[in-house]
This record gives sequence, C-alpha cells and structure tokens, in this order.
Amino acid sequence: MGTTHIIDGKQTAADFRKNLAEEIKRASLSPGLAVILVGDNPASLIYAKNKQKAAQEVGVMVEVHHLAALASERMIMDLIDELNKRPDIHGILLQLPVPMHLNPQNLIERIDPIKDVDGLHPVNVGKMTSGLPAMIPCTPLGCMYLIKQVVPSLVGKHAVVVGRSALVGRPLAHLLLQEDCTVTQAHSKTTHLADVCRQADILVAAAGVPHLIGADAVKKGAVVIDVGINRQENGKITGDVDFDAVQDIASFITPVPGGVGPMTIAMLLFNTLKAARNQMKTGLDMMLYKE
Ligand code: NDP
Repeated sequence: MGTTHIIDGKQTAADFRKNLAEEIKRASLSPGLAVILVGDNPASLIYAKNKQKAAQEVGVMVEVHHLAALASERMIMDLIDELNKRPDIHGILLQLPVPMHLNPQNLIERIDPIKDVDGLHPVNVGKMTSGLPAMIPCTPLGCMYLIKQVVPSLVGKHAVVVGRSALVGRPLAHLLLQEDCTVTQAHSKTTHLADVCRQADILVAAAGVPHLIGADAVKKGAVVIDVGINRQENGKITGDVDFDAVQDIASFITPVPGGVGPMTIAMLLFNTLKAARNQMKTGLDMMLYKE
C-alpha cells in the first residue's frame, strides 16, 4: 500500500450541497432551473434525473422540458425565449449532446448569458477567459474545488490538462492559469503524452478515453483528477485513468464514479443560486440577451 489518498467527491459534494441548502433557506431564496432535454439519449435522461433529485434536496426548483428527438431549432429557440423572460427561472441548461440535426451553438447563444448556468455562452466564455466575473462551466468549477481541498496553494504548480473541449479542458486550463499554475494543455495531437503528463504536479484527465493515463504518465506524488466517464460493455463506468496502476504513485486521486461527477451537479446548483442572486441584483430588465 502506498500513501495515496482518495478524494471522496461524493462526500465533498454532499457537504457542499448541505451548505447550499442552508444558504438558500437562510436567505429565503427560490432559485429556479430549467433543463432542456431533446430526445431520449439514455445517459442524458439519467443526468437530467440526477440533477432534478439533487436540486430538489437543496431547495432549487427544477423543470425538465423533455422535447421529442425531432424537435426543430425554431421550437427549442421559442422555448428558450420563453424561459429567458420568466422571472421564476434563473438558470437554463441545455442537456448536451443534442440530436444531429440541431446546432448546439445556436441554441446556447439563444440563452440569456445571465441564465447560462453551464457557462457556455460566448459572453461568459469571453468574460471568464478575461478573468472577469462570469458563469463558469460546472465540471471545471468542481475540479477546482476538489483540487483546492488538497493543494492549499496552487502558485507555481505545473498543471497538465488532457483535453481541450469547451465544456471541460479549455475552461479548466484558464482557471488553473488564473491561480498562477504553469499550465500545459494536451489533446489528441499531443505527442509523447505520457512524458508530458509526467511533468505534472496536478494532472487532470478529461479526454473520454478509458485508461488513457497509466503508471508511466504520473509523477510520484502528483494530484490526479479523473474527469472521464466511459461506459464499458458490461455497463460499468470507468475513468480516463488506470486507477489501480496509478493510485500508489499519486498523492491524491479521484475515483470514477464518486469523484468529479457528483461535484459537477453540486456546481450546477451553485451556479443556479449565483444566477438567482445576480438577477435579483440587476433586475430582469437588465437582461443581456436581446433578440
Ligand atoms: P470531448 O470529446 O468534447 O473532448 C475530449 C478532449 O480530449 C478533446 O480535446 C480531445 O482532443 C482530447 N483527446 C481525445 N483523445 C485523446 C487522446 N488519445 N490523447 C489526448 N487527448 C485526447 O469530451 P468532454 O471534454 O466533453 O469530456 C471528456 C470526458 O469527461 C468524457 O469522458 C466525458 O464523459 C467526461 N465528462 C465528465 C463530466 C463529469 O461530470 N465527471 C462532465 C463532462 C464530461 P482534440 O481536441 O484534439 O480532439
């Protein structure tokens, strides 16, 4: 046995949700979240249900708008317009991926940035990358929370992020940079990936490739955050990190499941509360989105 500590994302998320619930109660708030789900992607149905359950527990009201797989872009945009106007809905989340006939970017850009709890609207992306207050994507936010639990000061640490998606890798690299890490972003065209990863004090795997990160890619004592959710043929879920091979090398490691996943949902609720607070401050007539 090594000295690796497993980061318990499930417990951390439960504690975080408890604090959120207390905050919502104390301030007598009623944050409202609308989840738009198009089609019957089984994973998306599960995610939407999990979000609904967690939200109800903390006092966030959730509406799931489940539309047929063939729903047109016009129909979804009309729904978004309606939700943008509703004062009881503070956050709007479009469950991704959407069916092939839809352009997700068009739909994301229709959401009022102030209600964009996924932090994917270009206004929020621009603000975040400029270091301005913004809605920040939930998974990177959850990763940062977990990392900060075990690394008190990130200044000067070398962070390697494997993956550069708009949803996870790219915003996470910015957040680490803002904490004064030295950041390397790896992706599918990176050569000698294991050598690059072995430089990391903090290694985040967000590629969606089962067991991409093995023992040869981890420096002794590194903190390893596994974002990957990969469904195996037997129905079990595995991460991007070969947990068994790496756990005795890393100082801290997140498991899959029970690591980053629960934190993503907790941060969605946090963003909904933040959005509700922002809207109370500015008033809905100040909505940034205009047709
Ligand atoms: P994307 O498919 O959008 O992006 C994957 C990224 O990984 C791309 O930048 C891609 O590079 C890179 N990549 C793919 N293969 C390799 C490789 N062999 N070596 C190095 N880099 C590689 O996925 P997401 O970012 O949306 O998600 C990543 C993973 O995280 C998935 O497993 C997803 O299910 C999971 N996830 C988990 C969440 C959670 O709550 N735990 C939330 C969101 C996602 P390139 O840009 O060159 O194509």
